[in-house]
Amino acid sequence: MIEPLKIIDEGEHAVTIEWSDSTENTYEARDLRLACPCAGCINEWTGEKMLKNESVPGDVSISHISVVGRYALNFHFSDGHETGIFSFRYLKELADQKR
Ligand SMILES: [Zn+2]
Repeated sequence: MIEPLKIIDEGEHAVTIEWSDSTENTYEARDLRLACPCAGCINEWTGEKMLKNESVPGDVSISHISVVGRYALNFHFSDGHETGIFSFRYLKELADQKR
């Protein structure tokens, strides 16, 4: 199973994760905020995205990161949103999509 070895703060607007498979990905704070998988941002039944991109400030930043169990990270964003649980696998998928 993949997991983060190191979470590196790139200032307020980005974070780099070093993974246990020796890959490394950098995430922009706003990209993470827009990809928030919580029930308020994604309809959990239909998978439809409820979040309006334009409702997220362009300069949104990450104010706090915590580890959830052994499978996910929880990001607290400067717009007050903090309900998103980003599983390691989901974070990896986000990085692969950007490639
Ligand atoms: Zn959310």
